[in-house]
Amino acid sequence: MNFSFDFISAQLAQLTEWQAILDVFLVTIVIFIGLKLIQGTRAVQMLRGFLIVAAVLYVAFSSVSLQLPALSWLIQQVLPVLFFAIPVIFQPELQRALEQLGGASRYLRLFQRKQPNHALESVITASRRLSDRRHGALIVFEQDTGLQEYVDTGVKINGEPSPDLLLTIFNKNTELHDGAIIIRNGQLTAAACVLPLSAANVSDRQIGLRHRAALGISEVSDAVSVVISEETGRFAITHNGKLVKENRHDPQGREMSEQLKQLLEALLKT
Ligand code: ATP
Ligand code: MG
Repeated sequence: MNFSFDFISAQLAQLTEWQAILDVFLVTIVIFIGLKLIQGTRAVQMLRGFLIVAAVLYVAFSSVSLQLPALSWLIQQVLPVLFFAIPVIFQPELQRALEQLGGASRYLRLFQRKQPNHALESVITASRRLSDRRHGALIVFEQDTGLQEYVDTGVKINGEPSPDLLLTIFNKNTELHDGAIIIRNGQLTAAACVLPLSAANVSDRQIGLRHRAALGISEVSDAVSVVISEETGRFAITHNGKLVKENRHDPQGREMSEQLKQLLEALLKT
């Protein structure tokens, strides 16, 4: 493996000025898009780790010229392993990045799919009652990333997400209240779905399983989730690996604040 930049510099020397500018510009764009795609995901921390490993390897590779045979042997053994391990470790992030890249073609579509808004209105109406009754809820809005594998873990409904239906599903005495509901194209596709749990901030005992599941689905997809806490009745929204919690504590009416509603509307691609 050639770790020196001689090859690249030799090639660069032959380029005309505008070619060189275009070349650097394209590389910048590719790196920028790559960073944008993984922004806010676990991949950022892992990328940092990866860069450190790469730096160590680079230094270590110089050890070949420094004649440190044992060290260069070790590196030669480890490198192929890393080569195969990285796609495995990064699988969710790579999958998501590719999906986003595919989703970008959305903007090129002549007729964009419209996400009906009445589902959002029902969710907002129902959430006040759920919060009042201290019924925990987890509502996922599917967007460009298909969530079929999670829909399959639940019970198919395929109905209008009316406030009454939402209240019934999340009633503690029903069979379907455990798990998440998934809303696809304004339809309540399935209930009692099992979502992947986020491993972020595992040490944080404050984050229970419901919030972890909401975070988890936002890490592997572009879905937006609404969480209503059973313990506190408070609302939270997750998107892109981030959780926004409502801090307001209003004993009179536990309505979702305007800010949170606006955030939800903004995050849902319409
Ligand atoms: P709350 O504030 O409502 O107590 P929490 O974040 O503290 O929420 P838990 O108290 O652990 O979370 O909530 C447990 C509930 O979370 C379960 O009853 C179940 O409905 C839901 N839940 C747990 N794991 C998953 C999962 N993998 N996918 C979907 N829902 C889940
Ligand atoms: Mg809890």
